[in-house]
Amino acid sequence: MIESGENMFFHKEPILYVVVPCYNEEEVLEETTRQLKAKLEHLIKQKEISPKSKVMYVNDGSKDRTWEMIEEIHKNEKLFTGVSLSRNRGHQNALLGGLMTAKNYADVVISMDADLQDDINAIDEMILKYKQGFDIVYGVRSKRQKDTFFKRVTAEGFYKFMKFLGVDCVYNHADYRLTSKRVLEEFSNYQEVNLFLRGMFPLVGFKSDIVYYERKERFAGESKYPLKKMLNFAWDGITSFSVKPLRFICILGFIILFISIGIMIYSLVRKITGNTIDGWTFLSISIWFIGGLQMISIGIIGEYIGKMYNETKRRPRYIIAENLEEKKK
Ligand code: UDP
Ligand code: MG
Repeated sequence: MIESGENMFFHKEPILYVVVPCYNEEEVLEETTRQLKAKLEHLIKQKEISPKSKVMYVNDGSKDRTWEMIEEIHKNEKLFTGVSLSRNRGHQNALLGGLMTAKNYADVVISMDADLQDDINAIDEMILKYKQGFDIVYGVRSKRQKDTFFKRVTAEGFYKFMKFLGVDCVYNHADYRLTSKRVLEEFSNYQEVNLFLRGMFPLVGFKSDIVYYERKERFAGESKYPLKKMLNFAWDGITSFSVKPLRFICILGFIILFISIGIMIYSLVRKITGNTIDGWTFLSISIWFIGGLQMISIGIIGEYIGKMYNETKRRPRYIIAENLEEKKK
């Protein structure tokens, strides 16, 4: 970043904030703090980032000593700060709260989990990409060997399914990502409450790139994402980003209507050949025909509901990245 005016040739290091949502993470917080501290100190020494950089822990209504620990860390370490949500709101909300708070102090923000599953050494490369002019840098898991077979198959299947539904999702990217201040400023205009952050950032646009890292095992403690939460999250991802499931109803209706023509021919042939009881022809044709018609009708209503759903999200319709008119001055 080159500043104009008197600082013409002064290369300013960006202020980095690392946002880390924490829910009942007392077992990992100490080690996470140790590693992040070393990382930030190193980057500051290398003049990669400003000495004003910080780690911001977001306490998501933890029931254990997490918040007390964050307060303690903040007191002893100048590179650490924290915010605490009024109650548990879930990973995505906690992360959003952290990002929106951090953007007021930082030039660039990296979000990551508290459990050290995301390799913190990828931060160096993310900063490098940022300096090359990328506004979003997605951390992507190169391998998933450390995940259980079940988690790997379900997660990878999910990303493929999202793609099939037409959602622009970065494959195997969780919430380990770098975002510049201007991306976060624009992001604050996305007012939806059903959050699926990893699907929303691609909507913002700007130049983005990917860095690969190996996903490790959780340092300590248990996953805060049990199967039920994971399924909910996946379902949220699908229903927040695609109205295709509604369209399927319509398609299904047409298929059934088509089948009903076959049934009609079949029933009439049976009637003509005298192979049927009284009223059967009428009933079987009616059931299939009406069924198809109803399905189409529901599908059409669904289309409108889908439109309304998209309207209520009030997502920004465009974001201007560069305005040459402004640059002239
Ligand atoms: N988390 C949170 N609120 C919740 C659940 C999880 O802030 O309600 C945080 C958690 O502390 C961690 C991150 O979200 O930093 C990811 O959770 P976890 O590592 O348990 O998920 P997994 O890696 O197993 O998918
Ligand atoms: Mg984890």
